[in-house]
Amino acid sequence: MQNSVFTTRRPIRLRIDLTALRHNFKVARQLAGAANLWAVIKANAYGHGQFQAARALDDLTDGFALLETENAIALRERGHQQPILLLEGFFAPEEIVALARFKLTPVIHSPAQLEMLATADTRPESACLKVNTGMNRLGFRPQEVGAARQQLETLGIRRLTLMSHFAEADTAIGIAAQLQCFQQVAAGCGLPVSLANSAALIRYPESRGGKGDWARPGIMLYGSSPFAETTAAQLNLRPVMTVESRLIGVQTLAAGERVGYSGMFRADKSLRVGVVACGYADGYPRPAPTGTPIAVAGVLTRTLGRVSMDMLACDLSNAPEAQIGSPVTLWGDGEGGAVDADAVATAAGAISYELFCAVASRVPRVEA
Ligand SMILES: *Cc1c(COP(=O)(O)O)cnc(C)c1O
Repeated sequence: MQNSVFTTRRPIRLRIDLTALRHNFKVARQLAGAANLWAVIKANAYGHGQFQAARALDDLTDGFALLETENAIALRERGHQQPILLLEGFFAPEEIVALARFKLTPVIHSPAQLEMLATADTRPESACLKVNTGMNRLGFRPQEVGAARQQLETLGIRRLTLMSHFAEADTAIGIAAQLQCFQQVAAGCGLPVSLANSAALIRYPESRGGKGDWARPGIMLYGSSPFAETTAAQLNLRPVMTVESRLIGVQTLAAGERVGYSGMFRADKSLRVGVVACGYADGYPRPAPTGTPIAVAGVLTRTLGRVSMDMLACDLSNAPEAQIGSPVTLWGDGEGGAVDADAVATAAGAISYELFCAVASRVPRVEA
């Protein structure tokens, strides 16, 4: 495919740097100390490609975490032998037989799941019992946890980990109230625990756990900062995903002329404008306004006006060398230069998670 003359020549590409992924994992490993790590590869590894991410991390990670049983089975079929955590557990009784056969670890978070397990013929050996400590999405209330645990043990599911998820590990609120709630449940129950996402792993040592416990880093593995006020580079994280393209047009605007749909940007003086082969149908965020960072021919500059379906415009006033064919980096670290995905996301009123997950299937993928 890649070498066929019929392969698309439209210049947009998604590049994945697996060396950076491994580097970021090692940063997480250092923070985790003696605790184990589930590498979170849900949502196709946050848009990076779950199978290549799993392959790149196989010799480093203690386990993988994702959502769908069928993707967990696909990992087993590719030879990954680590524990695999199903972050939402299972959804229907038909899945339970696969949990046992493929040694998958479901999150158990609801009475409905306990009922399905009770009527199943075979059951998984291990599970994560989820406590709702205040996020109020999934999990048993603290006072319900003891009974849920007992039911699981009665059903023969004895390798249990007690788990919870933080709602505000990345904000000023922090984790104190949820952690205190969790610790009251966990005290004296003698189970390993799993609490920390990326933000907690980085910011709250008390959430990481020790030997036998598990942290669950996701976004940091992909080289993004979970915090608004700290950059990925400051956290020693490297971008894994680069979305890059080229200029396919250059226009010189006269003062007063406008660019793109609705003429949202108006030049106040003569201005060279580059037209990039990348639009919202490629996954670029349409809300990104004039001023969103973009790199062209090695120069960090800004987008101009509305993002179209297939194109967007950028300011070439500080890139006089730029011409049709010049490389452009939308985010990541590419031939066009380096652009922090978090900065693009912030400009667009989004988070990097959304950008990464939204890259369209029409964008060809290359492994760096
Ligand atoms: C997605 C997810 C994580 C990883 O979160 P990041 O913010 O990407 O580190 C951890 N735990 C659970 C339960 C999740 O759903």
